[in-house]
Amino acid sequence: PTTINRIAAGEVIERPAAAVKELVENALDAGARRIGVTIEGGGIGRIEVTDDGHGIPEAELPLAIERHATSKLTDEALVRIATLGFRGEALPSIGAAGRLTVTSRPAGQDSAARIVVDGGAVREVEPVAGPVGTCVTVEDLFHATPARRKFLRSAGAEAGSCADAVRHLALAAPAVGFSLTIDGAASFDLPPQDRRERVAAIYGRADAEKLLEIEAVREEVALRGFISPASLTRAAARHQHMVVNGRPVRDPLLRMALRLAYRERIPAGRHPLAALWLEIPAEMLDVNVHPAKAELRFAAPDAVRSLMIGAVQRALATPAD
Ligand code: ADP
Ligand code: MG
Repeated sequence: PTTINRIAAGEVIERPAAAVKELVENALDAGARRIGVTIEGGGIGRIEVTDDGHGIPEAELPLAIERHATSKLTDEALVRIATLGFRGEALPSIGAAGRLTVTSRPAGQDSAARIVVDGGAVREVEPVAGPVGTCVTVEDLFHATPARRKFLRSAGAEAGSCADAVRHLALAAPAVGFSLTIDGAASFDLPPQDRRERVAAIYGRADAEKLLEIEAVREEVALRGFISPASLTRAAARHQHMVVNGRPVRDPLLRMALRLAYRERIPAGRHPLAALWLEIPAEMLDVNVHPAKAELRFAAPDAVRSLMIGAVQRALATPAD
């Protein structure tokens, strides 16, 4: 059983994809082996994330949706990645902006229980039928915060961002099965896989077969993954997926290091493909960076940069046979 504690932090949900990311990360934190994501109306209409993780005990449901409540600060493994999003803000932020329904059943509990928060107003917990695990739905996101709603792009564009977020999360956790359904159409349904299989599923087999494997370990920092040969590029950098300590990040330093590593091998305006996993001790990450942006600050940026450049250049110099 979990114990939910309060912490101080500040964060808001800016777009549907940010809500999707928070909900899927919660499912991963709960030890889910399978995660199902459903998006309707660009995620503004409806987001649903279902997992088979450890669930939330009925008595703790009201706390889970309270501001600054988290069950995670006592877990050593999670403290080590504390920079990447454990601060008890996601569910209350979502519940303040739209209608949030959390239905959950831990393994030891006879039935599921449900709590609803709508525009910040919390309704009573009620018992419902449901399987072990958690299902979180978000409806009418930003109906309670119209100012934020007008910054959204078209439903199609927001759905695309949601799908990108789920793909990035699926790469971050290949051992977890992931399905994504957008407006009733199955986008993908991936079984638990190893990294190579997951990369092939996300990038497509034809591209994935051309990727070069990289590995570089220096003391406690390890960088592993797949990069494209200089001949395989894209006009957009969104085919670069960085995962740090199991969490997807969009990190300028890592992107810049990748670009430097290819040097003049790639024309301006083109980007190599990359799926990279970095493992780094938590004390080498700055904890004061805004977590919603998933940006990192490294205590020793030069070491990380040179590890990346060395690994990429070694892979590019190895002739393919
Ligand atoms: P945080 O993840 O930073 O702890 P959240 O607001 O995202 O804060 O979630 C609050 C709490 O609700 C979590 O600490 C966890 O105890 C519980 N929780 C949320 N989603 C799930 C889930 N899918 N499975 C199990 N517990 C969850
Ligand atoms: Mg969370």
